[in-house]
Amino acid sequence: MQHVRSTPADDRGCGWFHLSPPRQARPAHAGSKDAPWVVIGAGLTGLSAARRLAQHFPSDEIVLVEAQEVGFGASGRNSGFAIDLPHDIGAADYIGDPATARMNLKLNLAAQDIIRKLVVEHDIACDLRPVGKYQGAAEPRGIAVLDAYRRGLDKLGQDYQVLDEDAMRAHLGTGFYSKGLFTPGTMLLQPAALVKGLADSLPSNVTLYENTPITGFDYANDKTILTHQGGRITAGRLLLTNNAFASSFGFLKGKLLPVFTYASMSRPLTAEEQARLGGRDFWGLIPADPFGSTLRRTSDNRLLVRNSFSFNPNGRSSSFVRGVGAYHRASFARRFPMLPGVEFDFTWGGAMCLSRNHAAHFGQLRPGVYGALCCNGLGITRGTITGALLADWLAGERNELIDFLMSAPGPCANPPQPLLSLGVNLNLRWGQRRAGKES
Ligand SMILES: Cc1cc2nc3c(=O)[nH]c(=O)nc-3n(C[C@H](O)[C@H](O)[C@H](O)COP(=O)(O)OP(=O)(O)OC[C@H]3O[C@@H](n4cnc5c(N)ncnc54)[C@H](O)[C@@H]3O)c2cc1C
Repeated sequence: MQHVRSTPADDRGCGWFHLSPPRQARPAHAGSKDAPWVVIGAGLTGLSAARRLAQHFPSDEIVLVEAQEVGFGASGRNSGFAIDLPHDIGAADYIGDPATARMNLKLNLAAQDIIRKLVVEHDIACDLRPVGKYQGAAEPRGIAVLDAYRRGLDKLGQDYQVLDEDAMRAHLGTGFYSKGLFTPGTMLLQPAALVKGLADSLPSNVTLYENTPITGFDYANDKTILTHQGGRITAGRLLLTNNAFASSFGFLKGKLLPVFTYASMSRPLTAEEQARLGGRDFWGLIPADPFGSTLRRTSDNRLLVRNSFSFNPNGRSSSFVRGVGAYHRASFARRFPMLPGVEFDFTWGGAMCLSRNHAAHFGQLRPGVYGALCCNGLGITRGTITGALLADWLAGERNELIDFLMSAPGPCANPPQPLLSLGVNLNLRWGQRRAGKES
């Protein structure tokens, strides 16, 4: 039996989780079980894969195993941008090769379609709104990024609106941004409410076990034997949708980067504070500089700030989260000087699974084991669609989206430790410093 080197441990501070409708977690697994299909990780990718497998194989039991409660992992603690447009930070115009960008756009649009339909069909109260997103710049470097991205969007034939400082203030209330790019295709949502709702509306042939961290595995007779504190589950075929924890199972070792990012959410603004802020009452902004701050104004009139990164090679929450609130407070004060007494109710962190070449894994990991892994910070759309397509592929379907994913290069190798940690930490620190007041 091989040991799973690290299991998830997220902090308890996530505002989205606590503010979403409470639900009863499904019982942990106990005893011994055999199933034709087992999916590890009930985030957006695993929920999507399990649902689609259940549709393809209605007489098979699909077992979905989650280490924590659904909504407690990264899928419930992100900023809630279900983004349509490709954004290749490795390309000069952020679009790069138009043919690749068009396929990524198709993938994202297909994911949005899945999310929209499931939310309507199962009446999931996750505040899903197709309101678009702003991308904001406060300094010349950020403005240059917006100009380059605009050229990329022209190349791709996508709509956008350029906003000057006054227009940004009119839309968002803050006069912090000197330029903005509004793109209409993004949907905003409450991430924890979405994943909780998806978990509670799974087809009847999916059995979900929560609070069941898989801690050991072995391969015998074409099957995978998974062990945990309370028993064992034998998988005919195993799907790994557990983000960077795939490397704790020995896959993509030295290729994934578990990078944590952090958010704080304010208390609800009073009516008087809302009037003082002005602007629209529901919006989301991502930074022109990738090391800048993401902002949301929620339907219950809270403001969210997301920035700061730490490299946590074991994928678990670290003490970094304790100090990050003060950093968020400074970012908040720069943007909302008209709201001096607004405290944060919540501060939390969460893992993104990145790769150095921004590529993901899709397909087989070894005979009988498959993965949709490494969403590179865009898991709402990417996880939803790759989970579903992995199930389609396993059911024998072939189409241009599957072919595109199967032919993608996959994550590249990282340098060995301790060089890796040194390099990533330096990079993160330098990026945050360079972001200047946009952080
Ligand atoms: C603060 C923050 C903001 C973000 N903002 C956005 C955004 O606005 N838009 C966007 O698209 N993306 C965003 N992201 C990224 C997004 O959250 C991820 O890409 C997404 O959650 C990936 O989904 P996933 O299902 O593949 O993995 P995860 O959500 O990480 O789910 C994997 C699950 O596997 C479980 N697991 C791991 N190991 C085991 C084990 N041994 N046994 C059992 N279960 C296990 C984990 O508990 C976890 O729940 C953000 C991330 C963070 C942290």
